[in-house]
Amino acid sequence: MERKWFIVDAHQHIEVGSYIYASRLPRATYEEQLEAEVQRFKKWFEKYSVAYGAVSNISPMVDRVWRMRHGGNEATLELIKRVGEKVIGQYVPNVFEAPDLVKEKTEEAIRALGFKGIKLHPWVSAFPLSHPMVYPVFDVAAKYRIPVLSHSSRSEFCTPALFGEIAQRYPEVPIIMGHMGKQHLHFDVLPTMRLGENIYLETSGSKIQILLERAIKEFGADRVLFGTDGPHDLLPAYVVRIEDLGISDSEKELILGKNAAKLFKIPMP
Ligand SMILES: [Zn+2]
Repeated sequence: MERKWFIVDAHQHIEVGSYIYASRLPRATYEEQLEAEVQRFKKWFEKYSVAYGAVSNISPMVDRVWRMRHGGNEATLELIKRVGEKVIGQYVPNVFEAPDLVKEKTEEAIRALGFKGIKLHPWVSAFPLSHPMVYPVFDVAAKYRIPVLSHSSRSEFCTPALFGEIAQRYPEVPIIMGHMGKQHLHFDVLPTMRLGENIYLETSGSKIQILLERAIKEFGADRVLFGTDGPHDLLPAYVVRIEDLGISDSEKELILGKNAAKLFKIPMP
């Protein structure tokens, strides 16, 4: 990372409350977990020249019955308060609640709490990405032109095809395909991208460089967002992966930060 890029990591997480992998007993208290994440993010932002990280908490994806009004998204707000403006909040809705309540809470998250994006994890939460139960979330995203980042993988709940379906129903919502179908469904990514200009790719979790190259060649660099699913120390490797692409520096700038800044409506240098 010799070169100084304007970097926005479009896909980051904190682990406060319930977590996907239950291998970390004994569990710390909520406040201890939160403080550990605050310190982890502070150190990481000091170490790497990353301008912004778009962060969501894992716990509201895992818990189907929320114990707080926003199911643990509160921890993301606390992170923003303690770490600062570098953290961009991504709100995780609970699509298992009543549709009106989902709409009300998502709208509150954006209007009153300052979340700039929505994060869905259909595999962990167990709902199909394009199911009508998710429409209230997309209705709000459409109203405020807020991007929706979703996990994609071979789980039947979030295959690339479902991105195509929901993207066509909500053409005004930028829908970001996190992980680009991972390693198993990479053949589905380009055909899906052709279904809507509002479909974007996020680079973490996919190792298939030729897919990234082909996507940029066919759709342009402005439909790819840099992400790590971190924060972690693999950041330099992820950046090198973008630097290694046979594209211009201005296209690399788009992917590494400018595209995300535009979608999340945050200041650019
Ligand atoms: Zn994620």
